[in-house]
Amino acid sequence: MNPNTKPLILRTVEELRAWRKSLAPGETLGFVPTMGALHEGHLSLARLSMGRCSKTLVSIFVNPLQFGPKEDLARYPRPFERDCELLGGIGVDAVFSPSVATMYPEGASTTVVEDTVSHPLCGAMRPGHFLGVTTVVLKLFNLVQPDVAFFGQKDAQQCAVIERMVRDLDLPVEIIRGEIVREPDGLAMSSRNVYLSPEEREKAPLIYRSLKAAAAAYERGERDACRLEELGREALELDPSFNVQYWEVRHPRTLEKLETVGPDGALLAVAAVLGTTRLIDNWILKGQKH
Ligand code: AMP
Repeated sequence: MNPNTKPLILRTVEELRAWRKSLAPGETLGFVPTMGALHEGHLSLARLSMGRCSKTLVSIFVNPLQFGPKEDLARYPRPFERDCELLGGIGVDAVFSPSVATMYPEGASTTVVEDTVSHPLCGAMRPGHFLGVTTVVLKLFNLVQPDVAFFGQKDAQQCAVIERMVRDLDLPVEIIRGEIVREPDGLAMSSRNVYLSPEEREKAPLIYRSLKAAAAAYERGERDACRLEELGREALELDPSFNVQYWEVRHPRTLEKLETVGPDGALLAVAAVLGTTRLIDNWILKGQKH
């Protein structure tokens, strides 16, 4: 599609299925699921898809099932018109933006549970979150029937959970991870960054710097996971405004705890609350295999 043309906006299951059916057999469909309030991180995934597939669909759906009762569902930003303009600007073909009632009809009682990778880290902090994610992503895959789906490494655990679900349930879709897109000062882009006050926004890149501090120690030869965690956590706790939920070194795919960083490398994963905003970030330590 030509950039600056409005993408086709699909609201209902019927509209989506008719559009999917209208694609020629030779077309490949790339899919980028999002909750909207789009930024360059989302757009980088859409661009990856457009480079790889002949058609690209982006979904915008703030999924109530993945929010806890005390979380920010009500205040989550929903700038739909602007999102569509951004997607039109880069030439995305279609946007699927269903209502909650479309996705969860009255009495919906079936969910998807991944029972290992979803337990630690954000899974421990946000009970039910990944059940919400796997359920909505499987539903979206069934509706969109993409050849390839794109997820951001920003949500590394989400990527691992989805990859596990795709493998375990034989879903006919290829998963591609897109790199984390950051602000110039290192803060990982997130739709939630708009919640930060100017003072908090100034402090927020300390999360990134704590990851870099541990990564630098790894580069100097440190392989002890506890030591790397200590270094990272200490760097972040230098500023008491951060309430650190976790700062951990884990296996990059299985998310198991590590004693030593071995040939597979490691995921450094952090979640911290700054004011009322929960921020997450991560960094991959490459192993000798890479
Ligand atoms: P969300 O709208 O937050 O559900 O995110 C939709 C997709 O965009 C997910 O696959 C996220 O991992 C991805 N994403 C969010 N932030 C970034 C970022 N800073 N860099 C790359 N991908 C991102």
